[in-house]
Amino acid sequence: MQFKKLSEDKEIYNALQKEIKRQSEGMELIASENYVSHAVLEALGSELTNKYSEGYPGKRYYGGNKFVDDIETLAIERAKQLFSAEHVNVQPLSGSPANAAVYFATLKPGDKVLGLKLDHGGHLSHGHPVNFSGLLYNFVQYTVDKNTGKINMDEVREIALHEKPKMILAGFSAYSRNLEWQKFQDIADEIGAITFADIAHIAGLIAGKQIDNPVPIFDIVTTTTHKTLRGPRGAIIMCKQKFAEAIDRSVFPGMQGGPHDNNTAAKAVAFAEALQPDFTEYSRQVITNAKALADELMKLNFTIISGGTDNHLMVVDLTNKGLNGRQAETLLDKVNISTSRSTIPFDQLPPYKPSGLRLGSPAVTTRGMKETEMKQIAKWIAAAVDSRDDEEKLAQIREEVKQTCLRFPIPSVISEKNGFANPSDDELNKLNNGFGL
Ligand SMILES: *Cc1c(COP(=O)(O)O)cnc(C)c1O
Repeated sequence: MQFKKLSEDKEIYNALQKEIKRQSEGMELIASENYVSHAVLEALGSELTNKYSEGYPGKRYYGGNKFVDDIETLAIERAKQLFSAEHVNVQPLSGSPANAAVYFATLKPGDKVLGLKLDHGGHLSHGHPVNFSGLLYNFVQYTVDKNTGKINMDEVREIALHEKPKMILAGFSAYSRNLEWQKFQDIADEIGAITFADIAHIAGLIAGKQIDNPVPIFDIVTTTTHKTLRGPRGAIIMCKQKFAEAIDRSVFPGMQGGPHDNNTAAKAVAFAEALQPDFTEYSRQVITNAKALADELMKLNFTIISGGTDNHLMVVDLTNKGLNGRQAETLLDKVNISTSRSTIPFDQLPPYKPSGLRLGSPAVTTRGMKETEMKQIAKWIAAAVDSRDDEEKLAQIREEVKQTCLRFPIPSVISEKNGFANPSDDELNKLNNGFGL
């Protein structure tokens, strides 16, 4: 028996309803999360999930790929336009496999890679000892400066000249300052290293022209599509023409089998959305909101690593507040504010209960929130931390957070009302409080 609609599978349907309610009533400050448009959700939930398409447009190992070829070609062309890329592979299933494909295309096991130290803001796939990257390759690391909390390019150069890595990696999951792409490239040129940028976090801000684009400079650039870029879960690899063949071969047949065509279509939709003028406005507001949140938190005596932010995220050092990042994450969950604990540079505490908390503005900005709400969020965070043993006060904050969230609906709320049918134009227009969701 097949279900006629999702609501007939009561267990999954009920859990999903609860998740939609959680998203709808919660303040999402996890820096790597966002809300996709209804159009992206439609592409993801489409019949394309039925198809097998191993290979590339015009060169498939299965029949029936005429229209999938059209879709993948559109995704590639739109990504090229968005990031001024010479070559794009849109098939990587997520950020970590995309990075794996880059290493497999360019390195041999044991080769040396220079990247940002993980507890200073790097990512698991940038050489963490428990990750394939750290197991297979010889990662050496640069750090942020102890006084400024910022990357010091003189130090990067010094390490690079001394270590002579085969690849220099620039990118982060928890760093709030801009990277000097050209300086990385100049250093790589001195030692003949390949440059690789992982822009998973900031791709949307680059697409929205608020942060400098490394794609015209670097040899290879990967990004996830589901963070600030506001598309489906997945990733793409962009590179100079001379790496195109090696990258494509590394993704398929090297790493993956069939691409997820429904995700490819959803990526294409998200790229088209990111090419619109209102996406520039969105990404500008993301940064404005992050700055407003950081400023207000600093006024409330919170310490922000590096003293502020140039992008969508910040890492708060909670040491002076007398709780660790894990305790803060759990506490804020109680008041419907979602965050993620984070190590801070030179952390005195272990990674499972680090000293920091990472906050980000992409999701709340998609809902249409502006500086006023950001200041209020900072006040709620401070109030929750100050009243952490006062259940009554926490319940009151939770109710205020929820009421504000309900004024800024997410797309799925409409889907829920309609039993997951297509919303009417009228209902979609009602959602138009933010940036064209
Ligand atoms: C999120 C992230 C990734 C990995 O993404 P997944 O899709 O979770 O595998 C890779 N690199 C950086 C810098 C990231 O922030």
